[in-house]
Amino acid sequence: MGKVLACKDVGVDCDFVIKGKDEADVLRQAAEHAKDCHHNVQMTPDVQAKIRVAIKDEGSSCCGGSCH
Ligand SMILES: [Zn+2]
Repeated sequence: MGKVLACKDVGVDCDFVIKGKDEADVLRQAAEHAKDCHHNVQMTPDVQAKIRVAIKDEGSSCCGGSCH
């Protein structure tokens, strides 16, 4: 199962959603996205910990993802 991260769940005002095959993949993409879009966000261990908490399993929403 893939992993998803909604940028706004990390506390930034951004609708970007990252999808990856695993947590490491999501973290890598999040770092790239932050570099492009969130110049004030540094990938510190603190921020990475926040991201790990915000990462969810893909399809873990109300209906298993079939209605979205
Ligand atoms: Zn963002």
